[in-house]
Amino acid sequence: MTAKLIDGKAISKALKADVRRATDELAARGARRPGLAVVMVGEDPASGIYVRNKRLSCEETGILSVAHDLPATTSEATLVALIDRLNADPAIDGILVQSPLPKHINPHAIIERIDPAKDVDGFHPYNVGRLALRKPTLRSCTPYGIMIMLERSGIAPRGKDAVIVGQSNIVGRPMALELLAAAATITVCHSATRDLRAEVGRAAILVVATGKPEMIPGSWVREGAIVVDVGINRLPDGRLVGDVEFKSAAERASWITPVPGGVGPMTIAALMKNTLESSLARQGLVAA
Ligand code: NDP
Repeated sequence: MTAKLIDGKAISKALKADVRRATDELAARGARRPGLAVVMVGEDPASGIYVRNKRLSCEETGILSVAHDLPATTSEATLVALIDRLNADPAIDGILVQSPLPKHINPHAIIERIDPAKDVDGFHPYNVGRLALRKPTLRSCTPYGIMIMLERSGIAPRGKDAVIVGQSNIVGRPMALELLAAAATITVCHSATRDLRAEVGRAAILVVATGKPEMIPGSWVREGAIVVDVGINRLPDGRLVGDVEFKSAAERASWITPVPGGVGPMTIAALMKNTLESSLARQGLVAA
């Protein structure tokens, strides 16, 4: 079997166009355009690229973005004070604090300080808890983007065996909750999993988010599986690869996401959608 590509680039473009239509409609109705505060502490080069892409996506989708670039020496108290100001700012619907934060700042304290109604990354315990209880509010962007990508590719998780490799708070765990809410039967693997190959081999839907370049050999993939590769790894020769061996996996899978051009653009598009949804809710409006 040779897999069909799940084209994250094209699907994210369509999703962003939907958001653009909705924000233009808001403006036409005399309502406020959504506002997103993008906070970056320090100058991590990879974070700089992500933040730039997020700001560009705001322009594309008609969302007002407000940049807060703080020095790496910023104290936790100063960052908390900024979050408090943004929580109270009526023009701000979403607050995004780019990770990683410098070591002296506790990321959990920062996430929990953000008003859950403005937590467009979907990382606040309230929003993760709502998803766990099948009453999603703002959903974690990467898993949410993946769910939209599957849906728009005509892939229904219901009744399928889904295996997630990686249990991080931002990808693996909320991904498991999303797929469970969509009625898949889920298995979550991590570094203590005894027989990863056997678990991967059972997956009708395989989602891999480990940050280990090409750690899943294509030969492990079940024939006809749907493979979603979240990993983004830069090799010493400059190439970007995922956590799955793409070429050999694509020979066995029915559908597969490429790296780059798969999950990455969907994460940003989901962030735009979350910001729109937050703004609609905060303005007491419904989508047009
Ligand atoms: P983390 O490092 O937080 O988590 C990695 C997970 O992988 C952990 O749960 C770890 O297990 C598990 N793991 C590591 N090695 C193995 C192994 N040998 N066998 C089984 N499980 C293993 O990473 P993130 O979730 O933050 O990110 C994962 C990848 O996804 C990275 O490449 C990152 O760049 C990418 N990413 C991409 C995004 C996108 O938009 N495309 C968004 C976010 C991340 P344990 O918990 O036991 O240590």
